[in-house]
Amino acid sequence: MPKPELDLLVRARRVVTPGGTAPGAVGITGGRISAVEAYDSPLSGQETVVLADDEVLLPGLVDSHVHVNEPGRTDWEGFATATRAAAAGGITTIIDMPLNSIPPTIDADALRAKREAAAGQVHVDVGFWGGAVPGNSGQLRELHEAGAFGFKVFLVDSGVPEFPPLDAAGLDDVMRQAGELGSVVIVHAEDAAVIGSAPGAGGPGYGAFLRSRPGAAEVTAIARVIELARRTGARAHVLHLSAADATGLLAGARRSGAGVTAETCPHYLALAAEEVPDGGTQFKCCPPIRERANRERLWEALREGIIDCVVSDHSPCPPALKLAGRGDFGAAWGGISSVQVALPVVWTQARARGHTLDDIARWMAAGPAGLAGLAGKGRIAPGMDADLVAFAPEDTFTVRPDRLYHRHRLTPYAGRRLHGVVRRTWLRGAPVTGERASGRLLARGADPE
Ligand SMILES: [Zn+2]
Repeated sequence: MPKPELDLLVRARRVVTPGGTAPGAVGITGGRISAVEAYDSPLSGQETVVLADDEVLLPGLVDSHVHVNEPGRTDWEGFATATRAAAAGGITTIIDMPLNSIPPTIDADALRAKREAAAGQVHVDVGFWGGAVPGNSGQLRELHEAGAFGFKVFLVDSGVPEFPPLDAAGLDDVMRQAGELGSVVIVHAEDAAVIGSAPGAGGPGYGAFLRSRPGAAEVTAIARVIELARRTGARAHVLHLSAADATGLLAGARRSGAGVTAETCPHYLALAAEEVPDGGTQFKCCPPIRERANRERLWEALREGIIDCVVSDHSPCPPALKLAGRGDFGAAWGGISSVQVALPVVWTQARARGHTLDDIARWMAAGPAGLAGLAGKGRIAPGMDADLVAFAPEDTFTVRPDRLYHRHRLTPYAGRRLHGVVRRTWLRGAPVTGERASGRLLARGADPE
């Protein structure tokens, strides 16, 4: 009997797999990777794509930190625009944050509302985090069973009134429940008391804003999270780590076997406080972008494996809320839009520090997939979803806001020259072109819809 023909065969001079980067041929059947063989393997497909010599085949990236804001604040960002931008940036799976949409994703009904809002308009696969806030303790099990990937919590004001922070007892409770459910608690780790005693942040000067969100707020909150993870045995994940002073604590937690992981974001790895112009509120995010020396220590922590993931924390809002004209760091919305450029932003910095695309695949695909428990995503290997990216790592481009698919194009990266061009993206073996919204909605532990 002849060997069944593959749907698609992709040959590339460099294929980034968990075992390293090498020439290869990747066979795809029914949306999954069915074979990874030598470049000149006699495999044949109904369609064969041979990547150009300057292109690398990467696994589709998994961005576990995206604020889509739909329903309720769709004028900030929506599923169609966010997922189109993600695909253009080589990201084939996003996990949506439970706030700034209305309702926030804090019970099973709200998760249903999210899924209904997303249905039929997503260009990449989309999963959903749930949220734990004061008063929804009794909803967490149902939210988990409805498919939420874990529970997000704040220990400080979130910026929106419908998603308040937890107090110590509340955090204790969600950690205990997550441990019982086998879920994960993802934490915005800045301590409210430390921030409360710091000076205020008004005006256009970046220095005042930076002093209003000191690194000590992150260190204090992360110490608490580690202590609770040890005590409850629950898994916890530190979101958007900015303060390098906390990396020692995280390393210690890892050595002692506590289930605490951490992520950082493109802006903390690429930008620096010294470069933020007065009134440059497109650079405002919480925790803040810190000094250059801090940034280099974050790179060290990545190198040492203390930080597991690099994800966008794409968190847009209308330009008026960024107060672009007035530039007041106290009043401006905090959040940076970057889902479309996260890969080239991080790669540009990574290559300059001697990192490889194997590192990128670990930080931006396998790492976030592992955090979310997505066993079929984030790696080029037989049995995995055929989510793939043709990436030209030495090609360059300049970020032009009018080329971004984000709903709003205000970005601190405007005008930056970056290395790495995403030439093509495949989702489950089919090219993502923007014409057809072929993404699926994912639920924890279930087959996609
Ligand atoms: Zn966020």
